Amino acid sequence: MVQGAEAKMKGSSTPESVKVVVRCRPMNEQETAHGYTRVVDMDVDRGVVELRNVKAPETDPRKTFTFDAVYDWNSKQLELYDETFRPLVDSVLCGFNGTIFAYGQTGTGKTYTMEGIRDDPDQRGVIPNSFEHIFDHIALSSNQQYLIRASYLEIYQEEIRDLLGKDQKKRLELKERPDTGVYVRDLQQFVCKSVNEIQHVMTVGNQNRAVGATNMNLHSSRSHAIFIITIECSEIDDKGKNHIRVGKLNLVDLAGSERQSKTGTVGERLKEATKINLSLSALGNVISALVDGKSTHIPYRDSKLTRLLQDSLGGNSKTIMVANIGPASYNYDETITTLRYANRAKNIQNKPKVNEDPKDAILKEYQQELARLKAQLSQKGVKKKKKKKATDEGEEEEEEEDEDADSEALLQQERELELEKDRIVNDQHMIEEQEKERYLTEIKHKEAEVVAAKDAQEKLLNRIKTMESKLLCGGKNIIDHTNEQQRALHQRKQEILEQKKREREMLQLLEKEEESSCEIASTFSSLQAEVEAKTRKLKKLFAKLQSVKQEMADLHEEFCRDRVDLQHTQNVLTRELKLKALIIENFISPEEKRKILSRAYFDEDEDVWKVRPVVRQTSGGTLKRPVSSASRRPTSEYAKMQASVDHNPRYKGENIMVVELDPAVRTTRDWEGPVVAPRVSAALEAALRPLDEDLNIDASLATLNHSQAVKSTRKTKGKFKSGLRPPTQLPDSSMYPKSRGLVPK
Ligand code: ADP
Ligand code: MG
Repeated sequence: MVQGAEAKMKGSSTPESVKVVVRCRPMNEQETAHGYTRVVDMDVDRGVVELRNVKAPETDPRKTFTFDAVYDWNSKQLELYDETFRPLVDSVLCGFNGTIFAYGQTGTGKTYTMEGIRDDPDQRGVIPNSFEHIFDHIALSSNQQYLIRASYLEIYQEEIRDLLGKDQKKRLELKERPDTGVYVRDLQQFVCKSVNEIQHVMTVGNQNRAVGATNMNLHSSRSHAIFIITIECSEIDDKGKNHIRVGKLNLVDLAGSERQSKTGTVGERLKEATKINLSLSALGNVISALVDGKSTHIPYRDSKLTRLLQDSLGGNSKTIMVANIGPASYNYDETITTLRYANRAKNIQNKPKVNEDPKDAILKEYQQELARLKAQLSQKGVKKKKKKKATDEGEEEEEEEDEDADSEALLQQERELELEKDRIVNDQHMIEEQEKERYLTEIKHKEAEVVAAKDAQEKLLNRIKTMESKLLCGGKNIIDHTNEQQRALHQRKQEILEQKKREREMLQLLEKEEESSCEIASTFSSLQAEVEAKTRKLKKLFAKLQSVKQEMADLHEEFCRDRVDLQHTQNVLTRELKLKALIIENFISPEEKRKILSRAYFDEDEDVWKVRPVVRQTSGGTLKRPVSSASRRPTSEYAKMQASVDHNPRYKGENIMVVELDPAVRTTRDWEGPVVAPRVSAALEAALRPLDEDLNIDASLATLNHSQAVKSTRKTKGKFKSGLRPPTQLPDSSMYPKSRGLVPK
């Protein structure tokens, strides 16, 4: 950066507007193949974009917008960088905060503008170009120390993901501190020492971004990616005081601005559609509120994006918005919306200032830690050799000398110990083996000590080296002469660009003047001339009136569309709310409802309602375990005496009560078998008697009883079975008992 300009920037803390540039990409092959016409015209010199509506009649006036700069389809990445972005990055190097937004419909070149094609130097976007720029600047600097850190995050559906984090599933939270503002908690920051390193950081982040997404195009069009570079610079002023300046550069590739269709979507899908553009619509609302001038409340808190980039819109930051548009006719609606959005953003006023000596500068911590380590190292050196000069210039060489001397001393000690060992081993006079052993172990101890000291020293040196390598200084390897030339070249380039910018501003001013009333005041040579001039003027103003009317109608139409959309969302949300209210009314008791309500609170940080955990009421005293009384119960002499001889616990004097077991009242009876009639039991007995038992049949009728009759029957049967003839003379039927069904016939 040019020293003069740097000085100029430092002083500035005056408000400045957000810079808005428009970039139109070329027609792509498909568009040409389908025969779409180009509806965008750009006047690069005047910074004007003209838009033609193919659906409207030819006579309709074109829509024109004026911006800080416009870049047409022939624009080169480097041209854009040098003219628009370089001054901003230079400011960041001086300690300002800076933000670059890429806004626009998907497929219009946001990612191309921010990242571009990294392997092709001509097609590299702002981010890689800024890497080169920053590290070149450091190389050309003198008497300055830099610390560069990079982070990379993504906001998708209102969730923040650290693209450099180890755990890609983790979601980060936004936090706020009164002194430093809003920040992302636990966001990884990598110290980068070269262009290669910071490029690697970006590659890793991009890979992580793609890993989570099934359809990368869809994902990137619905999420916001923010690459953050923090530049800390320390410089010693004329009075020898160290100053630290910290600049933060946010490079934002926003989600596609196209309208997400909400009609027809319900439930989760609706929530998703609402969330996708929540950050973008919140961004739009913030811009509107800032520009309107009447709003006292700026709705930064409505989305993660606007909270995180609060400073970039109306705060302490220099901001550039690149509005990307497509040239083809079918993009007309989206293009005009983008241009209107960008046109509004032009009016935001920021108040950028240099962030000097902030409390949270890491560079200061690094410098302090380095000083401490060096002191530690030199202290060790001092123990061995007392040499130290007080001159300031010689300090660095002095330290190196010290370090050398230190290692030299350690080596010398090691050598001496080796010699001593040899001497003891070879000493023939030392007859006592034990003594020899003792000497040798002593030497071993000493050797170990020396090795440990060497180790510690090496570690310290390495640590100092790594820390020092992170702090970047310029002018080491480059010849000063070349530096001078490069600086001069940069200055020239910058001057030319400034000139160009001023020219454009003049042209824009001229146009405005033309429209104003100056012309009316001029005198006319004849009446005819006056009529002609005034007719011309009238025509011009009439055209203007027409275009304003047209614009009003267009805006009205757009608002109507928005309203329908919002109404639809509102209807769906109301329905959901009613359903939930219904469930609560009917299924949750009023008591429970009241309890939950009393525990509910709104978490400002996370923007959600939460329920406090249940806490036990302590006012009534917590329930305590019952405790025994402190004193033992009074014990009689007798009990004491018994306790000494009897082990029965009743004499132990504790709270033990020995009681006899109380026999319970009996509620059962012993089992008694069923009472069987004697006849039945006899029959059973007979039936169960083994068959081979001999039976004597008493033929006398008188003595014949029922049981015998059974027996005889059985006997007879058995005989039949064995093939014997049955008794020919069957007794009278009355002599035989009748079967009662217990015995088979
Ligand atoms: P977005 O990020 O807005 O969705 P991209 O950056 O992915 O859009 O661009 C879409 C396509 O258009 C890419 O293939 C890109 O190379 C091409 N493109 C965009 N802008 C330009 C440009 N200015 N010049 C050449 N090609 C471009
Ligand atoms: Mg993209």
